[in-house]
Amino acid sequence: MAQKKFKYSNKDITVVWKPDICIHSGICFRGLPEVFDPRRRPWIELDRSNTERIMLQVKRCPSGALSYFLNDSPPPDTNPQNLPD
Ligand code: SF4
Repeated sequence: MAQKKFKYSNKDITVVWKPDICIHSGICFRGLPEVFDPRRRPWIELDRSNTERIMLQVKRCPSGALSYFLNDSPPPDTNPQNLPD
């Protein structure tokens, strides 16, 4: 079965979250709570900070559940038609 992926975009980047491998460390929402808030839906809102800070925070995810790509150069397996909203 394909791994679940959720995507969240601003004008520069798309953040991908894979809930199946999230270990709920809390590092993302302690580090950048305005963007990552598990009590909110959607729980990731990129417009609440700037792209550079978001990219730095995503890189701190210890499990690899969070990743990002530049909207200018999406990887081949992230065709928007293959991802859930
Ligand atoms: S930092 Fe990564 S592993 Fe930790 S809660 Fe956030 S998404 Fe999940």
